[in-house]
Amino acid sequence: MTLPGRIFLHSPGPTNIPDRVLRAMHRPCEDFAAPAFQDLARSCLSDLSRVFRTEGESFAFSTNGHGTWEIPLVNLVEPGSAVLVPLAGRFSGAWAEMAEKLGLEVITTPPDLGRAVDPQAVEDALRADKAGRIAAVLTVHTETASSARTDLEAVRAAIDAVGHPALYVVDAIASLAVERFEMDAWKIDCALTASQKGLMLPPGMGFAALGERAMQVAERCSHPRRYWDIQFRRGDAGYQWFHGTPPLQHVWGLREALDMIFEQGLDAVIARHARLAEATRAAVAHWSQAGTLDFQTVRPEERSNAVTAIRTTDGTDPETMRKRARERYNVVLGGGLGELQGRVFRIGHLGDLNEPMLLGALATVELAMRDTALACTEGGVVAAVRALSTR
Ligand SMILES: *Cc1c(COP(=O)(O)O)cnc(C)c1O
Repeated sequence: MTLPGRIFLHSPGPTNIPDRVLRAMHRPCEDFAAPAFQDLARSCLSDLSRVFRTEGESFAFSTNGHGTWEIPLVNLVEPGSAVLVPLAGRFSGAWAEMAEKLGLEVITTPPDLGRAVDPQAVEDALRADKAGRIAAVLTVHTETASSARTDLEAVRAAIDAVGHPALYVVDAIASLAVERFEMDAWKIDCALTASQKGLMLPPGMGFAALGERAMQVAERCSHPRRYWDIQFRRGDAGYQWFHGTPPLQHVWGLREALDMIFEQGLDAVIARHARLAEATRAAVAHWSQAGTLDFQTVRPEERSNAVTAIRTTDGTDPETMRKRARERYNVVLGGGLGELQGRVFRIGHLGDLNEPMLLGALATVELAMRDTALACTEGGVVAAVRALSTR
């Protein structure tokens, strides 16, 4: 069935692609070895480092977010050594599985799906590593499945408290250009992101930024690798930067998206996400008064500005509501992942969004809840309007 109007993407990710980015991508291919394209690609990589807030180097890959997870595992960790993955939900869990499949020893901390990563658990696990087997701590900043945001500074402090030499590797896929992210100030050695979330591009590109220490480890690392090899990609020849033909249209789109972020100002982009997230939370808090809905993330300070996961407290399956929103109203919401399936729905609020778009989505969630008799206290949109109003 053809639905009228625009699709409202609140899934969280892929996100809205701004018309400017779509137009920038609407171009025929050209010679990627020509200086014009190489200069453009270089400018994108150095500007990405500005978004990561690092003096380190950024690298681009034709991949999605899952692909980027492999980059630190094969460039920074010796075969047979260990990684520590503090678990907080489906995404950190899948990253740990990948490390295991690659033959690494994986040490985890127990997940609490209502909470962010506990820095104390990280500290304890590192302290227990007397033999110094842990080469890296793999931390997901915003666990998109539960919507909990981990305090990255606190995890850094936990590593420092032990004085453990493990590299600090962060999945910033749902948080870059969404939340405050300070790669150098927080002493993050390697950070990862993907194109289709805060960067407002189509899916298909992944990015990694490496600081000096990570770069030195990558130079010595003996793990077999080729496509993901950072050393190869640092070469002078332009084809090495993408390890073959670059995704030309994506790179043009990336240039435009970065321009838009810098025109608005990175801090303003982050502040807008905080504002829209706060309005979403005001709506959810209002709906929850009926006693059948609640925030999946228990502590307010751990609720992310990218996505809000809402659980049903009476065991109602929110899938009927989610289906209604998508099939009748063209509003795409996230479902519950892993253990949260059938118990949670998620409202994404990241990327190219403004107040009217968010209010439209929130109003429609309420409409779909009403249609499908998912009990809530009506008037969540009024609460969101109050939260957004500057008066
Ligand atoms: C979306 C997401 C991923 C996975 O990205 P894909 O492009 O779907 O592979 C990984 N980690 C986090 C935190 C995400 O939000």
